[in-house]
Amino acid sequence: MQDMKLDGNAAAGDLEQIFAFEVTTAIGTCANCGAVGAMGGTSVYAQAPGIVVRCPACESVLIRLAHDGASRYWLEMTGVRSLELRV
Ligand SMILES: [Zn+2]
Repeated sequence: MQDMKLDGNAAAGDLEQIFAFEVTTAIGTCANCGAVGAMGGTSVYAQAPGIVVRCPACESVLIRLAHDGASRYWLEMTGVRSLELRV
């Protein structure tokens, strides 16, 4: 699994389709371990059916994002306790 790991910037293009702000600078808090950090510093696995974003501290899943290749996205963020946005 380590060979497939990318940094959080790898998810930026897909996440920016959903969020209308620079998501890599948003500060997320992991619901599992409480680690706080920029979303750009997360670990991303893009070889799954969709994208899986994991906490760099405990490897828990923060975000799952799937795209049908057309106009629909499915977003699951139960692993993110909070997300601080700067607009
Ligand atoms: Zn964590």
